[in-house]
Amino acid sequence: MRAYRDQHFLTDPRIVARIADILDISGRIVLEIGPGAGILTQALLDRGARVVSVELDANLIDKLSSRFASELADGSLAIIHGDAVKVPLPPFEIVMANLPYSISSPITFRLLDIGFEAAILMYQKEFADRMMAHPGTRECGRLSIMLQTYARANRCFDLPPGAFSPPPAVRSTVMWIEPREPLFPIENRQIYENIVRELFTRRRKTVQSTLKALAGTYGKEKIETVLKDLDPEILSSRPEALYLEDFATISNRISI
Ligand code: SAM
Repeated sequence: MRAYRDQHFLTDPRIVARIADILDISGRIVLEIGPGAGILTQALLDRGARVVSVELDANLIDKLSSRFASELADGSLAIIHGDAVKVPLPPFEIVMANLPYSISSPITFRLLDIGFEAAILMYQKEFADRMMAHPGTRECGRLSIMLQTYARANRCFDLPPGAFSPPPAVRSTVMWIEPREPLFPIENRQIYENIVRELFTRRRKTVQSTLKALAGTYGKEKIETVLKDLDPEILSSRPEALYLEDFATISNRISI
């Protein structure tokens, strides 16, 4: 039988209730990623949500199908067998999940791309810390900038490894995420995302040096104009010292 990573199941019903009670989900369509044995699924259904759960492991799909036979029959639950990063998803309003940590980044950005009202998601604590790192600090990276560009996020609470069976090697953090329009208008999202990626790929270089290296992508003339127009303080900074607004300014200069 194929072994799946990321199978650390919550066992304490009080912790499950704490997660499920963060938002009022009665009558709402909730997407759940990685239901596992169904402990959170049950809590979501108990609170009157209509649940769509996406699980990769066929073995667990069989168990979930027997456990929730009546909910599947009455339509309050739908189970999708597949990879949550790739499988087509039906409409949903809220997301709640004890995420498989190996897909934290692609699933978060896929969800933000699709759009939702609010999400309560559990991540590895270090990943959550990077999401929350303030622009202008050393901890700030591409993940922090991209998440904070497209969403507001808050830490709800941390959980020790002992809250799971089997216990993972890492601590976990439950996060509240709500999408928002970027605070600083972005002319071209593709260029913005590429600039953020390129700057952090060369995180020890200054903005000026990275922009010069991008002449092949955006054209020598365009880059020369941008270098002339941009604030010298931005040009001489490393990406970790920039604020959200600066990333928008740099990419907008390239976009127009
Ligand atoms: N929600 C359950 C709980 O809290 O007890 C299980 C959480 S466990 C950390 C993650 C679950 O995600 C596992 O059931 C695993 O099989 C499933 N999973 C792993 N990768 C997945 C993927 N790419 N798409 C959907 N489910 C996945």
